[in-house]
Amino acid sequence: MKPLPFMTATCSCGAVELKAFGRPIVSNVCYCDDCRKGSEQIEALPNAVAVRDPDGGTAYILYRKDRIACSKGAEFLRSYKLKESSPTNRVVAACCNSAMFLNFDRGPHWVSAYRVRFHGELPPLQWRICTKFKPDGTALPDDVPNYRGYPPGLIMKLLTARVAMLLGR
Ligand SMILES: [Zn+2]
Ligand SMILES: [Zn+2]
Repeated sequence: MKPLPFMTATCSCGAVELKAFGRPIVSNVCYCDDCRKGSEQIEALPNAVAVRDPDGGTAYILYRKDRIACSKGAEFLRSYKLKESSPTNRVVAACCNSAMFLNFDRGPHWVSAYRVRFHGELPPLQWRICTKFKPDGTALPDDVPNYRGYPPGLIMKLLTARVAMLLGR
């Protein structure tokens, strides 16, 4: 894989821009209930563009928290939660209701940015995860491994990223 110096993601109207630096932790598509509901919630906003792929999956590129930042239009960002008690926030560019990224109130050291918002050469997809929740009758391609739950490799990558971050690498 070629080095990826930085990647840019923008909302559909261009007012909000994210910049992500270095290699992402992972690039995957999630079919879990929360991602489905979260994407549906955003897609139901006025003039929202599609968040999910046609097969119902939501594609993400995961970056370390310290490697992704809003470089333009932060004042438009608005957080949505599935429930008031949800630890996750789905952050939307309110200018045009584009889903930008998913983060956590506390704890996890990564940000899941919506793949559909990125430009240029995207990192290759590595996994489809939580496929046991995929819509009935959906056939998934087998170009990358499909996991009914969370692949052990994903957990390892997240742990490795945490250690690298703690060591300041
Ligand atoms: Zn916008
Ligand atoms: Zn999910």
